[in-house]
Amino acid sequence: MANYDYKLRLSVDQDVCIGAGLCVLSTAEVFDQREEDGVVKLRQIEPDESQYEKVLGAVSKCPSGAISVEKIPLSRGSDTAAK
Ligand code: SF4
Repeated sequence: MANYDYKLRLSVDQDVCIGAGLCVLSTAEVFDQREEDGVVKLRQIEPDESQYEKVLGAVSKCPSGAISVEKIPLSRGSDTAAK
């Protein structure tokens, strides 16, 4: 399993989503759709690392650009800079 030096934080713009559902098809653990209109909703804001590859694939396939992903650097085993 890959080791990432960042964590992913997701957000979605429900006004932009066209309800195509590609994100749900690729990663149903992370994305869901509203029952009434198919617009995306998030099941997880910070998915597990095991989902990262699929999540990033879903972001790139989304036809409306409704999914935003933030890569937050992790400071693993680095020097302590706090003074
Ligand atoms: S792939 Fe994009 S447009 Fe389709 S449901 Fe997901 S967020 Fe909405």
